[in-house]
Amino acid sequence: MQNHEELARLLKDMGATFVGFANVEGKAEGSFSKLHFAVSVGLRLSDAILDEISDKPTFTYFHHYRSANTLLDQITFRGLLFIQQKGFNAVAVPASQTVNDAAGPYMGIFPHKTAAVLAGLGRIGKNGLFIHDVYGPRVRLATILTDMELPSAELVQKSGCLSCRRCVDACPAMALTGREWKAGITREELVDPKACSDYMIKNFKYIGRGSVCGICVKICPAYGKQNGT
Ligand code: SF4
Ligand code: SF4
Repeated sequence: MQNHEELARLLKDMGATFVGFANVEGKAEGSFSKLHFAVSVGLRLSDAILDEISDKPTFTYFHHYRSANTLLDQITFRGLLFIQQKGFNAVAVPASQTVNDAAGPYMGIFPHKTAAVLAGLGRIGKNGLFIHDVYGPRVRLATILTDMELPSAELVQKSGCLSCRRCVDACPAMALTGREWKAGITREELVDPKACSDYMIKNFKYIGRGSVCGICVKICPAYGKQNGT
């Protein structure tokens, strides 16, 4: 079995719903720029918890979101150890972390969505979220950056949103521009992350960190293809 196959099996045994591989050369910053490959790891979220959301986040969703991030961090840490054992370098990018000195505000050290799209696992929606080919936006992502060579995937080039605007119209912060994603478009052309964050902090800080609303995840119809829905 090749390294990437062994790694994918390990990550799935740890609980990952899906795993993909990408060449991300030129995408990472600083010393991580030497790590030209990415492992994209995802978890499917609970439909029952997301379906409970109406016009505001719920305490259950907030806890679910944090639990998913914790599990993802454990899975990618285990993957990092595997890669190091094979004699290569690896960094587990935190599932949910914004860093003040990153390329822009509200950003982490490496965008999980970039790795997932380059791994051919899905696309980006008008909600600015990663839309998995099967589970839609009802997923959480994490990434491992590495210099261990990994296979590259075929890229999804286009949004599948077409004329749908459900998330744009439902966003209470009016943070979504309604533009359709295509490869190379910037996050700011789709989403105003400050408007989203400010709205959440102002209205829902009592629920938690004030950064998870869930409306633009819950309302999106692009999921459930595995059930034929
Ligand atoms: S999380 Fe909520 S406030 Fe932020 S973009 Fe989505 S729907 Fe709008
Ligand atoms: S709700 Fe509609 S417009 Fe928004 S991401 Fe989903 S499919 Fe695209």
